[in-house]
Amino acid sequence: MRFAQNLERILRRIERARLAYDAHQIISLVAVSKYQKVQDILDLYECGQRAFGENKVQDLRDKSVQCAQVPIEWHFIGKLQENKINAMLSCAPALVHSIDSLKLAEAIQKRLGEQTLRALLQVNASREESKNGVSVESAKEVYEQILKSCPNIALEGIMTIGANTEDRKLVEQSFKDTRDVFESVRAMGAKTLSMGMSGDFEIAIAYGANLVRIGTSLFE
Ligand SMILES: *Cc1c(COP(=O)(O)O)cnc(C)c1O
Repeated sequence: MRFAQNLERILRRIERARLAYDAHQIISLVAVSKYQKVQDILDLYECGQRAFGENKVQDLRDKSVQCAQVPIEWHFIGKLQENKINAMLSCAPALVHSIDSLKLAEAIQKRLGEQTLRALLQVNASREESKNGVSVESAKEVYEQILKSCPNIALEGIMTIGANTEDRKLVEQSFKDTRDVFESVRAMGAKTLSMGMSGDFEIAIAYGANLVRIGTSLFE
């Protein structure tokens, strides 16, 4: 139970932030295992964690095979190259957080066949060049286009990576902009707002996140 204390500490912090935001809110935790070995994933699983996220298709494939003895809910959270779509689909992740263009969505749609894929649209709310995702300004339109042209993608919400800065105001702004995008697509069925990592998940929850992706603080 190497990670039991970490998990308890994080769950307590999520709970405090959740109650401060809205006692009726339901928040999911995805443990980001991208830098962790299979045994570490299984150790955190033993503590009760069930959802894990990977950001590379190859790692998702290897680790899901190696952890096949337990029923983990896998999430794909990384940049998806078009030439890795089939490999990603063969892992049948519970949710792909990182659809970052209409072009990628259409390429996935082509390969889906009868299968459906649950997914989120990634928004680049920090406006950092290095980050993937559609712009805040175009997000609603792209969301609508994906719904229209990709019937086998079950688009369920929005994901973002908060601004990578010590400046709390900028972090808040990126979450606030993402929340506004999320609100604008609610009428189209969006229900998941995936934002918040080890350094900023409490701020994200204050802006309505209902799924947080935490790695470092769980596995340290
Ligand atoms: C690595 C990663 C996380 C987790 O970050 P930590 O700071 O380790 O909690 C969350 N989301 C994405 C997309 C990531 O790549």
